[in-house]
Amino acid sequence: MLSAEIIAIGSELLTPTKTDTNSLWLTEKLNEIGIEVKLKIIVGDDELRLKETIKDAISRSDIVITTGGLGPTEDDITRKISAEAIGRKLIFREDILASISKKFLKMNREMPEINKRQAFIIEDGDVLPNPNGSAPGMAVEIDNKYLIILPGPPRELKPMFENFVLPKLKQTAGEIFVKRKVLRVTGMGESAIDEIIAPVYTQYKNPQTSTLFNRSEVEIQLTAQGKNEDEADQMLKDLADKIVAKLGIAVFSVNGELMEEVVGRLLIESEKTLSVAESCTGGLIAQRLTEIPGSSKFFVEGVVAYANTAKIRTLNVPSDLIEKFGAVSAEVAEAMAKNLLEQSETDFAISVTGIAGPAGGTEEKPVGLVFIGYASQEEVKYIKLNLPGDRHLIRWRASQAALDFLRRKMIRMKS
Ligand code: AMP
Ligand code: MG
Repeated sequence: MLSAEIIAIGSELLTPTKTDTNSLWLTEKLNEIGIEVKLKIIVGDDELRLKETIKDAISRSDIVITTGGLGPTEDDITRKISAEAIGRKLIFREDILASISKKFLKMNREMPEINKRQAFIIEDGDVLPNPNGSAPGMAVEIDNKYLIILPGPPRELKPMFENFVLPKLKQTAGEIFVKRKVLRVTGMGESAIDEIIAPVYTQYKNPQTSTLFNRSEVEIQLTAQGKNEDEADQMLKDLADKIVAKLGIAVFSVNGELMEEVVGRLLIESEKTLSVAESCTGGLIAQRLTEIPGSSKFFVEGVVAYANTAKIRTLNVPSDLIEKFGAVSAEVAEAMAKNLLEQSETDFAISVTGIAGPAGGTEEKPVGLVFIGYASQEEVKYIKLNLPGDRHLIRWRASQAALDFLRRKMIRMKS
């Protein structure tokens, strides 16, 4: 597998306000054709550091891509410094100058003298045309390695890379098809998951497996390289099946589906309807569910009953229940779900009541204490959770846990 390295050039990229997005885009394109990005570097407009960086990069990577610094001004040093770094001359090209001045003429402007700099090309380098700007890019071969020099503005870089670089790199990389699959797991921690699945995935070099924790779920990313799409798909499926067999119902998604999409799909498949009574999540569950196109098929109603008075008035939660057990209690969570189920005449109702913090916690009922209620015609249930995190995370995790509770119920019902 060929290795690549990306060097983003420009002092503005080292300020707190400007992000290097070119390398993200380039990484995606390179990965798709089976080229792995091993390193990304951001260098300011600094001759010494840039020269060192390019030298080092060429010595360790098969493909080095630079972006930025091709403008006509004094601080745009990429052309000159790249040539120096690889020990080649810059050659003035009359034909490139002519095409740059033609571009200016088209805009009814005379070409400023300084743009002449953009007509210099590294000795033996290929010119990469730039239909969206004045500076051409360059591709230089150095002992079977490539230095590819692209402009900084994304609207210039993207078409140049797709039209003049990608086809060539594809050929160099050979017939490799790279595909990714994401498994999503909830209700288990990253280390607990890894303990269970590491014996499976460490058997494989291809697909590669990586796990990452993401708010309320763990993503297991599988990346396969095959000769073609079918082969890559089959490799992904084989490993995914083995991982799912180990983790069971905790895996809620094997094709990138979000939790709310999974719950929505299960409801539609079983032709069931849902209503949601929310306190500390303030409508987050309803929002997530209604984000899905077609949610009107299953989503009937969402009630945000935040104050005790609202729980009593809109959800008929008995006031003495709140007095006796508190608004954040199993009893109130169950009453919220049960009463909304009756009012809305849905097949399921779920409810959430909890303490999202930062204030409001006590020793008995700390911040992060959340009760999820569940009601169907058959049963009324609750779960009690102690969720870690700040207010934002607790609310998000509570919404996830509520959706997951319903998901697990529906899956168990099916089997
Ligand atoms: P330059 O080619 O260095 O003159 O860059 C021209 C403009 O392109 C900059 O002002 C940025 O707005 C944009 N740009 C340069 N490098 C990047 C990058 N790595 N990611 C996103 N935008 C960039
Ligand atoms: Mg610049």
